[in-house]
Amino acid sequence: MDLGIKGKRALVCASSKGLGLGCAEALAGAGCDLVMNARSADTLEAAAADIRSRFGVNVTAVAADITTDAGRTQVLEAAGQIDILVTNAGGPPPGMWSDWERDDFIAALDANMLTPIALMKACLPAMMERGWGRVVNITSQSVKAPIAVLGLSNAARTGLTGYVAGTARQVAPSGVTINNILPGIHATDRAVSLDTGVSEAQGISMEEAKAQRAATIPARRYGTREEFGATCAFLCSQHAGFIVGQNILLDGGATNATI
Ligand code: NAP
Repeated sequence: MDLGIKGKRALVCASSKGLGLGCAEALAGAGCDLVMNARSADTLEAAAADIRSRFGVNVTAVAADITTDAGRTQVLEAAGQIDILVTNAGGPPPGMWSDWERDDFIAALDANMLTPIALMKACLPAMMERGWGRVVNITSQSVKAPIAVLGLSNAARTGLTGYVAGTARQVAPSGVTINNILPGIHATDRAVSLDTGVSEAQGISMEEAKAQRAATIPARRYGTREEFGATCAFLCSQHAGFIVGQNILLDGGATNATI
């Protein structure tokens, strides 16, 4: 399917690996020029070079921490005028409700709520002025159903979801859509780190931890970054202009809910 976005310019945050990389690859496959970002310059440059050579699109790589004011300024200055914004950052650490202090919440809110809000605030006006734009926020399955050990994530991402629900309806008249994708477990470094926690806590191997988790998913497997990226690219496409303020769950059926 021609997504109709060839030549658009997309900023994909936190995109040297994992789900962000999947989004960058799929948008490049649709013909978008990219601005990619991550903190580690070497991994980022390697991912950018790979995308340039496979898809023949222009890629600007900006090594910066997207959760800081200085990092966002650096990324936004390098990005210039963009048509598509994909927000993403690392997720907060797991723990118990009794572990977390105010500073832990502030860090989680900064990374997973206030950073995407700041990026939207910076990018939406120009998109609205031009009458076209797409924003996709990578959030989490935990927005639909809490994951108890990820209380910091539950809290921050639900706050972002509430903000998007209202804002998406305010910018839609200008041809700009904002939607969220809610990943369940996907085979990325983040999954390795979550499975390592389970393996250590339960004294089981990584393979057992992974099999145990996969057994709870109706699809009986982890998602892939390619599947995730394809959904993101579709939400950024010309065909998705009537999808406004939605939360698209990609979890292999793990969240047991009728709607
Ligand atoms: P990942 O494989 O660990 O990749 C994270 C990517 O983000 C890397 O490119 C990393 O590069 C970059 N990054 C992290 N912190 C950053 C920062 N402060 N500034 C700029 N770049 C940053 O993670 P993932 O699995 O793709 O997860 C992406 C998001 O989805 C996370 O918020 C995660 O919590 C959420 N999520 C993931 C899953 C899953 O199963 N994978 C499920 C639910 C939710 P550098 O380290 O070099 O910066």
